[in-house]
Amino acid sequence: MFRVILVGRLEESARKAARWLIERTPIRSLRDWGIAFSLWPVHLTTSCCGAEFAATSAPKYDAERYGFLPFLSPRNTNLLLIEGTLTVKMARAARIIWEQMPWPKFAIAMGACAMSGGVFYNSYNVVPAWKVVPIDVYIPGCPPRPEAVARAILRLQEKVRRGEYEPRDVEDKKFLEELMAPVMEELKRNMPEALIDVASGQKNE
Ligand code: SF4
Repeated sequence: MFRVILVGRLEESARKAARWLIERTPIRSLRDWGIAFSLWPVHLTTSCCGAEFAATSAPKYDAERYGFLPFLSPRNTNLLLIEGTLTVKMARAARIIWEQMPWPKFAIAMGACAMSGGVFYNSYNVVPAWKVVPIDVYIPGCPPRPEAVARAILRLQEKVRRGEYEPRDVEDKKFLEELMAPVMEELKRNMPEALIDVASGQKNE
């Protein structure tokens, strides 16, 4: 007669078993297919490229046929679309939104301004999007046409269906820390309860 002895936390073991199963069976393809057709971008219009983004979602181009549904709450979205110029002020907002989004999440940089600064290249207050969030697809142009946005959605779908969405972050962490330092200072001053580490229940000093 066999006896099964469970050692460790049952909940953690069940989670690991579910992940193991998903990674090794056709369930994974099904999951990737579902994510590819459920790309919900958070609506963060940073600049004039936003007009082309709006046109992409309008009836003529109908991006919703790709499962692309602009949404308001960052906590219910999985795609951050940087629509043009990212100033330092908006870069901080974009990063906060990125942190709030659940994994798996993706980012698209739209327009020359989001890619490199564009017409504001080397300006004191403009930040390239790749310094703030890890970018999956770039859309060149000033402004890119709605067809280019639709093409970027299809490229991202291909990437998702290949299963290429491991958690990752920007490479220049030092730049990010410097960018977000005023936000962290503000949080520490005004909302100390927001800095409680959920896992440990301890306050971050
Ligand atoms: S790329 Fe052109 S259209 Fe887009 S935000 Fe920059 S200046 Fe505006």
